[in-house]
Amino acid sequence: MELSFHDDVSDRVLTSSTPEDAKADWREVAVDLNELALDRLEFAVVILNVVLLFVIPSISWYLTGKALEPVRRSHETQRQFVTDAAHELRTPLTIIQNEIELALKQERSAEDYRGALASNLEEVKRLSELVERLLFLARHDDGMDQFAVDRIDLTDLISSVLAHHRKPIADRQLLLEFCPAEKSVIVLGDAMMLSMMFGNLIDNAIKYTDDFGGVTVSMKICEAKVLIEVIDTGIGIAPEMHEKIFDRFTRADASRGLTKGHGLGLSICQAIAKSHHGTVSVKSNGQGSTFAVVLPTA
Ligand code: ADP
Repeated sequence: MELSFHDDVSDRVLTSSTPEDAKADWREVAVDLNELALDRLEFAVVILNVVLLFVIPSISWYLTGKALEPVRRSHETQRQFVTDAAHELRTPLTIIQNEIELALKQERSAEDYRGALASNLEEVKRLSELVERLLFLARHDDGMDQFAVDRIDLTDLISSVLAHHRKPIADRQLLLEFCPAEKSVIVLGDAMMLSMMFGNLIDNAIKYTDDFGGVTVSMKICEAKVLIEVIDTGIGIAPEMHEKIFDRFTRADASRGLTKGHGLGLSICQAIAKSHHGTVSVKSNGQGSTFAVVLPTA
């Protein structure tokens, strides 16, 4: 079509008899060319609009999906957290309810009532511990946890945490060893939070170690950091669980029948270590476990 138009134009101009005719022909040709260009432009604009009609919504749909991804993930995490928390709260509440119903069913001796109350008290203590932990994590998620930044002598802090665990260590006849660093170790942080973190780790080492086993806490200074290891000779942790046990409400199968727990302690340890610009990790080859905390020194 293009070829025939050009041929037609050349024919008309070449066959014009006078210069005026040739001029008029050129003008006509120019008008035809303009019309042709306009037709093409119109066609291009229509095609462009059709393409944009599909492309723009697709791009915005994709970008909106990408932007909402973190919100969706956070919503899912929050939903899972609430479901797991409700599940954990239900178990002790059911136990308490059953105990009370059983106690009230008929007249009982004072000793029976005392027994029921003691058992309920234990469950209530577990409930308050769970609520405390849930509150800690909820505040942490909202960035509402307030940390003091004090100069803390870590050797003193760990010694005092160990002193608090003297009774369960003696009851279980565990061999406790504490190997502090050669010189004093000062870290910047919140003494209460750090005590909670080391308390959780030492608590676990005792909980998951058989009677007559061993628990060792060692400290080593490496450049501007301090490495604290809580080592036990207990049941160990399967390699596939090493990452997962730091997730909320996650417990390794081996520990389930052994002790009661909510699977929140290590999530709290991780949150505290992070808030102190440190890390907490686990090593275990199935026989005994080593939890390593690394913190920057002051
Ligand atoms: P909890 O002890 O209340 O279950 P944690 O978050 O402290 O919750 O620990 C999560 C899980 O990690 C435990 O249930 C247990 O399976 C495993 N774990 C933690 N510490 C040890 C340890 N020292 N030895 C063996 N398993 C451990």
